[in-house]
Amino acid sequence: VSLVRPGADDLERAAEAALRPRRLEEFVGQRVVRDQLSLVLEAALGRGRAPDHVLLSGPPGLGKTTLAMIIAAELGASLRVTSGPAIQHAGDLAAVLSSLEEGEVLFLDEIHRLARPAEELLYVAMEDFRVDVVVGKGAGASAIPLSLPPFTVVGATTRAGLLPAPLRDRFGFTGHLDFYSDDELERVLVRSAGLLGAPLEAAAAAEIASRSRGTPRIANRLLRRVRDWAQVRGDGRMSLDAARAALEVYEVDARGLDRLDRSVLDALCRRFGGGPVGLTTLAVAVGEEPETVETVAEPFLVREGLVGRTPRGRVALPAAWEHLGLVPPSAGGT
Ligand code: ADP
Repeated sequence: VSLVRPGADDLERAAEAALRPRRLEEFVGQRVVRDQLSLVLEAALGRGRAPDHVLLSGPPGLGKTTLAMIIAAELGASLRVTSGPAIQHAGDLAAVLSSLEEGEVLFLDEIHRLARPAEELLYVAMEDFRVDVVVGKGAGASAIPLSLPPFTVVGATTRAGLLPAPLRDRFGFTGHLDFYSDDELERVLVRSAGLLGAPLEAAAAAEIASRSRGTPRIANRLLRRVRDWAQVRGDGRMSLDAARAALEVYEVDARGLDRLDRSVLDALCRRFGGGPVGLTTLAVAVGEEPETVETVAEPFLVREGLVGRTPRGRVALPAAWEHLGLVPPSAGGT
């Protein structure tokens, strides 16, 4: 398992859970989404009603799950968690929906990966608070409408653009999470170090923040690795030197790129001459699923001005060549 990628094992997940902010005011950054959400929640509480359904979009590790938990906590409601890939059949979703209690929050992670029949069932449930339970089989089958108590769906997706319009329209509020600034990540790190009871020097916090790809999940993971290094090889203090040494061990470079990021750049520049190259071809070249390249590596590479997306495929921008210490073809030949 690569250090800075999602799909963490159970230990990582437990470590992550311990660092999750529990209330909206503890949630660092994302001011716009936080303000909007706090209005939605306060209004719903004032009316004594379940709030509109909420859709959260953005790259992995930016706080979608955390926000879903916070929404439930702020409402004083319980949270049910499932995900698009976990629901194989519409019947699975019908079972979850029909067991919801009044006011509960249903977190649907990776909602863009719901199968079509489940998606259709979800529209109806979200809009009319009704689910049709199918009884019997074949010609004798009939659908019995079951009405549901009011509840709130919090959907999360790494790719809002992939959501069919009818589903997107069922959400009264959509919040888009963006990458965090280095300052915000420093605040996340200081908070986490406090919770871990591990002293973190300011210069080390700044160094880790600048290499965390704008992502709190990565910042927290790197923090734990720096803590390991400080404990095993250092004097226990997370100093700038400890941070640099640890990040070198884990192959996180000065820009925060990890091995997957670098192999994407490397393939783009060295194997495909800077592109354009299609996503699938690129993914095969680095031995990953296209979805991983597209949702995990690419958003950050694009934001950093290293990779460009064109109608004909991905291209390496001048900064990519520079980062690898290569000369871009067009700039050569003098
Ligand atoms: P996502 O669901 O978008 O993949 P998560 O909500 O699981 O991301 O967040 C990953 C980790 O990052 C969490 O464990 C949490 O501790 C931390 N985190 C995310 N957003 C914030 C934030 N705004 N402030 C503090 N910590 C955060």
